[in-house]
Amino acid sequence: MSQFVISAPPVTSVEVAGSDARFPVRRVFCVGRNYADHALEMGGNPDREPPFFFQKPSDAVVPASGQIPYPPLTSDLHHEIEMVIAIGKEGTNVSTDDARDLVWGYGVGVDLTRRDLQAAAKKLGRPWDWGKGFDLSAPTSPLRPVSEVGHLEAGRIWLTVNGELRQEGDLRQMIWPVVDIIRYVSESVTLKPGDLIFSGTPAGVGAMQPGDTVRGGVEGIGEFEFRIGDA
Ligand code: MN
Repeated sequence: MSQFVISAPPVTSVEVAGSDARFPVRRVFCVGRNYADHALEMGGNPDREPPFFFQKPSDAVVPASGQIPYPPLTSDLHHEIEMVIAIGKEGTNVSTDDARDLVWGYGVGVDLTRRDLQAAAKKLGRPWDWGKGFDLSAPTSPLRPVSEVGHLEAGRIWLTVNGELRQEGDLRQMIWPVVDIIRYVSESVTLKPGDLIFSGTPAGVGAMQPGDTVRGGVEGIGEFEFRIGDA
């Protein structure tokens, strides 16, 4: 058996609600502008744009609890509440009819965004990675299996900062629902067990400061609470 020349990195994993078992994370895909009201607030056209995607490193996934330090290089850290799709089976070119077979379960996550770095990248036609894919940028709640919660097509999605309601929408408002997201991603790459897909955020994204308490949830899946720590 061959040996690694350095210690192998640990496998990132997410808690499964009500279980000692954990869900191992392979990759993290994120859908851009999947709610019409958010597409409009970001200057997009919700009627004409096909879905687009970006990725975060798998080890950006951390529990949406406790304290998450304010990241470096930004003075405009934004919250984006999102439903998270956990993929349990492999699939390429998956039809919308077959898409649900790939889903192991669902969770709630926050696509933390260094909005100032993202805006600068957009302006220069550069990649979004530094605005989106930083350390600890994907706090995620415990996952719930489809066997418990079914396939959610509707339900309130919301986020508060220090008790003030910032984001509120319904899963029904997604421009591209779960089956379409899976179809589009699997046309581009083979989806594999362990992949997570952040499914987009409703309107109301905004800045957080050190010391802020962030709560959020998706009806039928769960809720979370964490605090933004010092830089
Ligand atoms: Mn997002």
